[in-house]
Amino acid sequence: MHFHVMTLFPEMVLDGLRTSIIGRAEEKGCISIEAVNIRDYTLDKHKKVDDYTYGGGAGMLMQAQPVYDCWQALEERIAQRKGAKHRTRVIYVTPQGEVFHQKRAAELSQEEDLIFLCGHYEGIDERVLEEIVTDYISIGDYVLTGGELPAMVLIDAVSRLVPGVLNNGESAQTESHANGLLEYPQYSRPEIWHERRVPEVLLSGHHANIEKWRMEQSLERTKERRPELYEAYIKSCQILQK
Ligand code: SAM
Repeated sequence: MHFHVMTLFPEMVLDGLRTSIIGRAEEKGCISIEAVNIRDYTLDKHKKVDDYTYGGGAGMLMQAQPVYDCWQALEERIAQRKGAKHRTRVIYVTPQGEVFHQKRAAELSQEEDLIFLCGHYEGIDERVLEEIVTDYISIGDYVLTGGELPAMVLIDAVSRLVPGVLNNGESAQTESHANGLLEYPQYSRPEIWHERRVPEVLLSGHHANIEKWRMEQSLERTKERRPELYEAYIKSCQILQK
């Protein structure tokens, strides 16, 4: 899977993602990440990419021209590699988008290429968004200074679902949100730490009992910490039983 990030701060994206599991996944060739500097495409002789907003108001806005030209160059390159006229999805990360969740990560992980557009300052001229953006995604109801962290969050969450990225293929399936519940508590060595014992059942080697205990813990934890998720899970089980 290929991730392409349109940004004013390419080094922030690459430095942040090229470590640990995601960095290794790129080295193994499971994914590729490129960050393209929007500033390289401005026609302004001073390399400016932002200007004042019409109608007044605080702050600067990223202009349409450099964003559009950057996208066009990227899209042409992707089409050339694929040998087809294929429109790649362009995700504008914005606090005005749909709030990101695990189901969206799973759906995006089916794509071969994804383009991310990172805004800065007050955001981006609406006209270029209307022309190139296919998806508007937020990472939560708060406002950050730029789209780089949100793009990195999405790339990390999507990458983990790409085959080969995680060593243990199982772990993505049993983790929180994969089945609508939070994951059960987990323990590692030693068996006793600060006078706290690992639950007996986990030492029993009885797989059916361990699975049962984990499911009960998942349900209990979800009910306590995320009651709205618990309600939705119970409702979906009732629908399936009908
Ligand atoms: N003026 C915009 C508004 O009120 O909707 C906010 C602009 S924000 C300061 C600058 C950029 O950061 C946005 O263009 C977007 O790319 C990114 N950003 C900020 N908060 C975000 C969030 N919660 N999710 C995704 N992207 C976000």
